[in-house]
Amino acid sequence: MPAIDQTQTVTLAGAGLVGSLLAMFLARRGFQVEVLERRADMRKEQGSAGRSINLAISARGLHALRQVGLEQEALRHAIPMRGRMIHPLSGELSLQPYGKDDSQHINSISRAWLNKSLMTHAEETNRVSIRFKQRIQHVDFDTGALTVLDEPSGTTREERAAVLLGTDGSGSAVRQEMMRLPGYHSTQEPLGHGYKELTIPAGQGSTFQMEKNALHIWPRGAFMLIALPNEDGSFTCTLFLPFEGPVSFASLDSPEKVQAFFEEQFPDAVPLLPELTHDFFHNPTGTMVTVKSAPWHVGGRALVLGDAAHAIVPFFGQGMNCGFEDCVVLDGCLARHQTWEDAFGEFFGLRKTNADAIADMAVENFTEMSSSTASARFLLEKQVEKA
Ligand code: FAD
Repeated sequence: MPAIDQTQTVTLAGAGLVGSLLAMFLARRGFQVEVLERRADMRKEQGSAGRSINLAISARGLHALRQVGLEQEALRHAIPMRGRMIHPLSGELSLQPYGKDDSQHINSISRAWLNKSLMTHAEETNRVSIRFKQRIQHVDFDTGALTVLDEPSGTTREERAAVLLGTDGSGSAVRQEMMRLPGYHSTQEPLGHGYKELTIPAGQGSTFQMEKNALHIWPRGAFMLIALPNEDGSFTCTLFLPFEGPVSFASLDSPEKVQAFFEEQFPDAVPLLPELTHDFFHNPTGTMVTVKSAPWHVGGRALVLGDAAHAIVPFFGQGMNCGFEDCVVLDGCLARHQTWEDAFGEFFGLRKTNADAIADMAVENFTEMSSSTASARFLLEKQVEKA
């Protein structure tokens, strides 16, 4: 069994949120880290940072950042959200606090800012090298050979990875390669809903046009709109809507229908969305998937973590937080064990049940967010909790 040897280079697939943070944890342990990232360097080239524009970071995610000394810097760029601001179809707005006092809150943070910052801090350790536009296509777990596509030239080459950590997201190539091995299995359950991001711009003088310190929700049963604040005074709205059916992305096929749908369902948001129909037809429609897999590692050769191991739908705002917690837990396993295989085995044992539980809770929370937040029962429960 190969021992954990700090002079070894560890290879990471993917410099997303989890990969970039994990690189910092590994550098802190003394490893050299080579990261192969499919996308261009978002600090140099304009392009999407992937998925949502902003994210809710909560206690688990902040705890992980604290371990590498980045919590305070992240909080300086985050906006506290103290509760859910419910926008009913008619009637008054109501704030449902997340905790008994304002100290209990979650935070809205820019995905691009956080990812860029993590990459830069990782590189500043002088132990982490990130190579961009490098896509891992194939892994041979016996030899550690990786087939890597250099996107600019279109050529493929072979590299060796003594230890490979797959942080390459929900469509993980590393996981897919693992799943060809006997005894490995994974399920991918796509949600019947997609999502579309829309922007509420800042008001005059970079002011927020709605309550700044809240996660805004327009719960409407089978669909909902949410909005999280950004540092520049804008809000990023996300419309969650079925792909098919009477009210769906398929049925909203003209600017007139989109305008009429918003005026009927989200009347108070319409004046705040000046580019509504333009954004609706120009921004991509995102898909969401739950991935469950096992056993996440091939001996001491390779491990998947973050979304690559356990992608979850966003209704709990916990996907990244859970992936950040993976980094903390893996770091602890590396401290306790002499071999990669033992560390990976303990990591899988510690995380699998939790990851499956949060995946199921995230799906269930769509019902709570889209319906129950507005229901009398829920409001009553909240009042009882507070009392
Ligand atoms: P990713 O962020 O997907 O990063 C994977 C990286 O690997 C990417 O950079 C990709 O380019 C690279 N890559 C992929 N394939 C390869 C390859 N073959 N070779 C090399 N590189 C590769 N989570 C929260 O905690 N809070 C939230 O509020 C929240 N909101 C969300 C809202 C939406 C709409 C969605 C869809 C998700 C949300 N999430 C949220 C979940 C969160 O986005 C993910 O859990 C998080 O991005 C996972 O990070 P990751 O690094 O594992 O994967």
